[in-house]
Amino acid sequence: MRGRSASRHRTLTVAATAALALAWPVQADAAAPAAAPDRPAAAVAAGAARSTDVDYATWQRDVAAALAPARPYVEQRTANASGEKLAIVLDVDNTSLETDFHSFWEYPTPAVRPALDLARYADSRGVDVFFVTARPGILHGLTARNLRSAGYPVDGLYVRDLPDLFGEVAAYKTEKRAEIEAKGYRIIANIGNRPSDLAGGHAERVFKLPDYDGELS
Ligand SMILES: [Mg+2]
Repeated sequence: MRGRSASRHRTLTVAATAALALAWPVQADAAAPAAAPDRPAAAVAAGAARSTDVDYATWQRDVAAALAPARPYVEQRTANASGEKLAIVLDVDNTSLETDFHSFWEYPTPAVRPALDLARYADSRGVDVFFVTARPGILHGLTARNLRSAGYPVDGLYVRDLPDLFGEVAAYKTEKRAEIEAKGYRIIANIGNRPSDLAGGHAERVFKLPDYDGELS
């Protein structure tokens, strides 16, 4: 029941977010909220309706543990870059943004702090930061603004266009990583919370954040 309930909530959240995207004013870029990367966890935990039953503190702890080896890896890998164009790839929902822990009207959705720290660190080491999400194309602008306002460096954002919406997520995401490689990048790390974020290769290393058997999108 818990899984089905979360899934229903997610469906509602996606639909509502799409409605928000449609209603989003054209001038929103200029009026984008200031960066709020230091939003206290207590305020997040106290948020109203959420789309998951996963405990926030447990999730935060598990995410931090999963990403702990990533920073020393990026440090070591960039020290041996020797002129290569390096990139990391991140999933968006519940990898880069705390999507399932906030109601859709709490825009912008705050960053997943350990992922934000990693992305900023990679950026500081000359690594370009790409996002590949299963969100539909209509949410491209909203998602890009959210990522930037949450503090992320964004060198590229891939969303699913119409044909991709009918295919497998893993195949779509793999194809986008191949496209990034075709631009001359070596993807040193691919970070996601679902198996479909990480299957298919085209990354030197993967970092798997928790999805609790599909509980988190
Ligand atoms: Mg996700």
